[in-house]
Amino acid sequence: MNYDLENFERKDRTDELMGIYAPKLGYNKDQIDFIKDVMDTVKSVMEKHNVRNKAIEWDHIGSRLIDGKVIPPPGFEDVLFELIRDNEIIRTFIPEKHGGFGFSGYMTAPITEVTNYYSQPMGMMAYFALTVLEPLYKFYRPEYDEIIERFAVGKNIGYGAFTEAHAGSNLKSINSTSELVGDEYVLNGTKIFITNGGYANAGLFLAKNMVNGKDEGTNVFLVEGLEGITTLRLEEKSGIHASPTAQLHFNNVTVPKENLLGEAGNGYHKVIERLLGMRMSVAVQASAAAKRAYDEALVYAQTREQFNRPIINFPDIQKKLTIIKTQIERLEDFAHGGYYALERFHKGLFPSDQYGSDSQFPDELHEGLIHHYISGAKIYSSEVVNFLMYDAAQIFGGMGFISETIVNKLTRDVRILSIYDGTSEIQKWILSRSKKAIDHLPNFQSPYSKYQDSTIYEEMLFLRFPELRELI
Ligand SMILES: Cc1cc2nc3c(=O)[nH]c(=O)nc-3n(C[C@H](O)[C@H](O)[C@H](O)COP(=O)(O)OP(=O)(O)OC[C@H]3O[C@@H](n4cnc5c(N)ncnc54)[C@H](O)[C@@H]3O)c2cc1C
Repeated sequence: MNYDLENFERKDRTDELMGIYAPKLGYNKDQIDFIKDVMDTVKSVMEKHNVRNKAIEWDHIGSRLIDGKVIPPPGFEDVLFELIRDNEIIRTFIPEKHGGFGFSGYMTAPITEVTNYYSQPMGMMAYFALTVLEPLYKFYRPEYDEIIERFAVGKNIGYGAFTEAHAGSNLKSINSTSELVGDEYVLNGTKIFITNGGYANAGLFLAKNMVNGKDEGTNVFLVEGLEGITTLRLEEKSGIHASPTAQLHFNNVTVPKENLLGEAGNGYHKVIERLLGMRMSVAVQASAAAKRAYDEALVYAQTREQFNRPIINFPDIQKKLTIIKTQIERLEDFAHGGYYALERFHKGLFPSDQYGSDSQFPDELHEGLIHHYISGAKIYSSEVVNFLMYDAAQIFGGMGFISETIVNKLTRDVRILSIYDGTSEIQKWILSRSKKAIDHLPNFQSPYSKYQDSTIYEEMLFLRFPELRELI
């Protein structure tokens, strides 16, 4: 049986989607071209350093804890520093009033995706800065200018220290403490599972707000520098080995009182629940991994021969490639659509443009709807990409089970997507809360409603979470 390669060649829709969403957000052609140039820069750094293949070596070696210091695998820092220091990639996303190029929410999607296409741990290391910066703009003080600039030039690398041994999904039950002593807060506690922990030097820290020995809510701080912070261990994980996942002990770490983000006692509700970009970054990690898996699988299917012909000739293989390709288009829709809604929300616009730019809905509906988009994109993307990877690896036969193949690495890497930044169960719960907002919107069209039928990966999602048929 012959096959027509044209049917299987993947057309990347990033340009097309940027062409739709970016102008609606007010970006002009020059600005869109600027973002394309940044994407090209990322690609050329990645290709120059052969990250396409080196990511496997990084995965085997992993990040290590040696004499209390977190050491990334050889060559990892060369790429990281070329991106964030030589090319100042983070400056792209810093508002103009803070010395950046002024791109926000939506435009992070294409750039972070192309980075993650080559290496998810690199994406996590380079762009955690964006999560740390989000509340710094929101609760801006002039004291933050120098901190923001250190992110812009890649001197600051970001992390978020929220989770504790007994406080995962329920972050409000943390034990870490913060207490105001004179003009400084004193921070204490042990955090687990901290991405970039011990290596990154500028992060967010969630703690109880202790006032005269009493627990009065939660605080979130910006902590710069590693003084008083000990890396107790790095976790041995099933995937993303190059990304350090640390247990960190904060022992009487002091920060100026201005480093408290927002009001005392309100940290969880005003900062943590609003780290929406962090959840969206997971949707982009999913689409990037799916694209990479497809590209690898297509080459393998064309070159691997069995029964005297390339395996792409077998209908079973063609079926898998076709469905993965369809699924990738939908992952792109969710990633771009979610970031589009997020940027509208940050600009004070209603997250959906379905109701016209002058729509006047109350704040609760803005809030409800943005959670619908963000948690919808997070649960959808992180779940379907795992089912998709099963088929992508199957195309490789035994090689899909061998850890030196990219597809094997990807199957292991994407497993974390439905866990970190809020598990799927927690996203489902947030979505069900946001349903109240949707019910108030006449004829609301959910992102999913435009598809005529479900892919098998979506069917898997709906079988596991039946409520989602109504929620996404
Ligand atoms: C590699 C990695 C990197 C991470 N990076 C970071 C980081 O940078 N910073 C950080 O702070 N944390 C990080 N985490 C922590 C991560 O966010 C948590 O692991 C995650 O939120 C789940 O918490 P948990 O592991 O304690 O699971 P638990 O909260 O104990 O959940 C166990 C199970 O119960 C389910 N469950 C819990 N509550 C409910 C509920 N109300 N309804 C239904 N089901 C529920 C969960 O969905 C899950 O299936 C990371 C974790 C890993 C593994």
